[in-house]
Amino acid sequence: MEKRALSRFVGAEAWGFLAPEQQATIGALAMELVLAWSLDDEAAGLTDRDEVDTRIERVARAFGDHVIIDRLTEEVLSPLPPEVLSDETDNPRIPLAFGQICRACGCSQNDGCDVGCCWAEDDLCSACADLSPPPRSVYVHADAAGVIRFLSMPPVDNMLLFSGPDSAVREIVAVEARHAYDGATLLVPGLPEAEDSLQRLDALCAFQTRLERAWAARESEVLS
Ligand SMILES: [Zn+2]
Ligand SMILES: [Zn+2]
Repeated sequence: MEKRALSRFVGAEAWGFLAPEQQATIGALAMELVLAWSLDDEAAGLTDRDEVDTRIERVARAFGDHVIIDRLTEEVLSPLPPEVLSDETDNPRIPLAFGQICRACGCSQNDGCDVGCCWAEDDLCSACADLSPPPRSVYVHADAAGVIRFLSMPPVDNMLLFSGPDSAVREIVAVEARHAYDGATLLVPGLPEAEDSLQRLDALCAFQTRLERAWAARESEVLS
């Protein structure tokens, strides 16, 4: 299902709604908040200084950062029109500072999809993008007796006769190969009765050429 894009809160644009004195208050409070957080570290003993000033610890414990957060929240939210803070469906807007977010699943730089994903579009991850998988390939192989097999991986010996999209290649081989008496086994024509390696090679080359011609004919049919 196609989901609507997530609405974003663009701080730089919202700033323009504020009067200069409101901007000054918010700017100053934002800076003080950052300093309040470093006091938190002081209180938690996270600084690498040996001697912690107990007066600073005491102030940090007494205030934390919520005093400034509460004031900052009030200063930011009260002057801004509701549509700047939430979208037309009343969903809160997501801060632009969070970066790219997938509109389909909500994954982000900090929280990628389990299957692994990258950006297919600015706001759509590859796991959610409708990328159809490439057609499965099949490899046509013949053993020394001329018996044809369809492999999902390239054969390790050099008896690869042909490869391509699975169903199309199987169709062509079924037409071009010789059908054994069991009704199921496909054989390279002329190879079972070849008397030496030269004849075997001839049979293989002839069959490979037939497959290539059949493929070319099929391709031109598809295109026309
Ligand atoms: Zn996604
Ligand atoms: Zn994703």
